[in-house]
Amino acid sequence: MDNTDTHTHLSLTWKGIADELRSTVSSDIFERWFREIELIDLAPEHLTLRVPNDIYKYWIEDNHMGPLRAAVLMVLKGAREIRFACGSNANVPGPAPVRSPEPEPVASESVEERALANGFNPRNTFENFVVGPTNEFVAAACRAVADNPSKVYNPLFFYGGVGLGKTHLMFAIGQHLQATRKGIKIAYLTSEKFTNEFIDAIQTGTLVKFRKRYRQLDVLLIDDIQFLAGKERSQEEFFHTFNTLFDGHKQIVMTSDRPPSEIGNLEPRLVSRFEWGLTAEMQPPEVETRTAILQKKAASLGVSVPKEILAYLAERIRTNVRRLEGGLMRVASYISLNGGRPSDERIEMLLKDIIQEEARRAVNVEQIQKRVAEHFDIRNADMTGKRRPKNIAFPRQIAMYLARELTKMSLVEIGEAFGGRDHGTVLHAHRLIKERMSDDDKIRSVVRFLSDQLSR
Ligand code: ADP
Ligand code: MG
Repeated sequence: MDNTDTHTHLSLTWKGIADELRSTVSSDIFERWFREIELIDLAPEHLTLRVPNDIYKYWIEDNHMGPLRAAVLMVLKGAREIRFACGSNANVPGPAPVRSPEPEPVASESVEERALANGFNPRNTFENFVVGPTNEFVAAACRAVADNPSKVYNPLFFYGGVGLGKTHLMFAIGQHLQATRKGIKIAYLTSEKFTNEFIDAIQTGTLVKFRKRYRQLDVLLIDDIQFLAGKERSQEEFFHTFNTLFDGHKQIVMTSDRPPSEIGNLEPRLVSRFEWGLTAEMQPPEVETRTAILQKKAASLGVSVPKEILAYLAERIRTNVRRLEGGLMRVASYISLNGGRPSDERIEMLLKDIIQEEARRAVNVEQIQKRVAEHFDIRNADMTGKRRPKNIAFPRQIAMYLARELTKMSLVEIGEAFGGRDHGTVLHAHRLIKERMSDDDKIRSVVRFLSDQLSR
């Protein structure tokens, strides 16, 4: 191929990938982060994407690699390593330099590569984690475990809302251990991945291998354990994995969006094991910590963002650090592309939907469950449990109805949050309550009352 052909081939290939992406990420995300991308190099093992600046690279790496990898896989019929090149002076890379036979010194690049190979985000370290009153206990526990695995808290179970840094801390533990203990066997995975691999292993007759992989570890980091809810065989399997590791004095760390006792449809023997070690909660950071997080992040991006803009962001975005970072990225990206301080109107515009989302998401499903359970005087655990006498089933349906009305969660997500029920159950509950509200004044006023209280 001559140069023009190559160019056409690359831009067509990117178009294919972009079309794929459009169907998996929201149009807002696509427009903001993928629209400007160009594919500048395509090799058998890797490809290079040109992005306008570092901020794109970091933000995509931290938030959108899943869909991007999937799109690449679909279009190129095989996985490639995805590289980024920044700015207009990012030329098409030439042939790879000849590698020297000597082992290279451990440069920061190779540390980064190694970290990524294990699935750890190299930026998610203890050094980069800002500690404040609402997360210091959890952060200290994670540090202690990273310094003394299986000696202090086993298992370590910590929980809190979305975007509060749970995965960050798990990666920090993993990377600290990798750096300080040569040859240590660590695995990080979500409970969903555990379930999927387990099902795979059953189907392909490779259970022995699967068990060996997870039962011979020194450290098991298992994220978002709440997704084991309702999955009986996976729970059984995890129970044995847990016991083998625990009896062998191996470290287990788990995270969840709620405490063990509130994960619905989780076997009691697992609940009690999860509570054997230390269980700790993290809350959204208060305004000082939010400001500190923004300062640190802005400094690491090398963009100078005026203090009052950081203060504005910290004031307005309160519940989710990922969203907070998202706001900063937009402003920083604007500043680095256009130079100078954006006007107040511009900032409003850049942040509009994030701030709306913040307001909308102010109610989460846990609050709904808790409030409804209180109101009907049933246990919070019944929201996610299997029991179905009428005095429990009805409040649960109201809570599902409210979750659908007051949050942006999908039916599937709501089903998961109610102890792994399927989306049809949620849909049915929603219809039923709507019907009952239209023909029963008392029910209508109760649901309205709860809804008002929760939205305030
Ligand atoms: P979770 O797993 O709890 O949903 P993540 O660990 O994915 O949250 O964190 C979301 C984002 O916020 C990540 O980019 C993470 O680095 C960042 N973050 C969260 N808390 C902090 C903190 N205290 N200091 C620095 N960064 C944080
Ligand atoms: Mg997480």
